[in-house]
Amino acid sequence: MRVVLVGPPGAGKGTQAQFIASHLSIPKISTGDIFRANVSGGTELGKLAKGFMDRGDLVPDEVTIAMVRDRLAENDAQEGFLLDGFPRNVAQAEVLKKMLADFGIGLDLVLELVVDDDEVVRRLAGRRTCRSCGKVWHVDFDPPKVDGICDACGGELFQRDDDREETIRHRLEVYQEQTAPLISFYADEGILRGVDATGPVEEVTQRAMSELRRFAD
Ligand SMILES: [Zn+2]
Repeated sequence: MRVVLVGPPGAGKGTQAQFIASHLSIPKISTGDIFRANVSGGTELGKLAKGFMDRGDLVPDEVTIAMVRDRLAENDAQEGFLLDGFPRNVAQAEVLKKMLADFGIGLDLVLELVVDDDEVVRRLAGRRTCRSCGKVWHVDFDPPKVDGICDACGGELFQRDDDREETIRHRLEVYQEQTAPLISFYADEGILRGVDATGPVEEVTQRAMSELRRFAD
């Protein structure tokens, strides 16, 4: 199967991508992994991307797209794949569609992990990070024995700027702006399926799998 996974920050997308790909025995292809592989492998595209990253610039779409194209041409992706982090916008979705058409294939499904904003804030704003060892705790889901102190090393816990409510709300707004058109694009193509991403990780995976099985039948 050829699947794209989309979802807001805090939806558990990385974890779900891994589980779903392993259930389906297809590779999980994330832009982060592709970047790292190209940079550490010293490919031409990797050198190009590294130049932008070293200067603190965004890697241009064309470089990302070329890396995705190379990755999708590899052997292990011929029977299917799960894309995570690509496409990010409608322009990339159009390119992907054309790229796959060149290979004589198309996407089967786009799974959207659906979580409401307040739930994302509850998940992320409750995180506390240890200053000494970096371990991440959660005030509701995984609290340390003593408030503000790391069980593992006795270090002081703090809230990262990324985990502050206003930062999270801002990231969610940016996500909505970028992704809403992408979601409509795939809804128009008739391949979008929403998956309720609240509750335990395994239950979310099961919901995603039943959508995929329904498609395969
Ligand atoms: Zn610690």
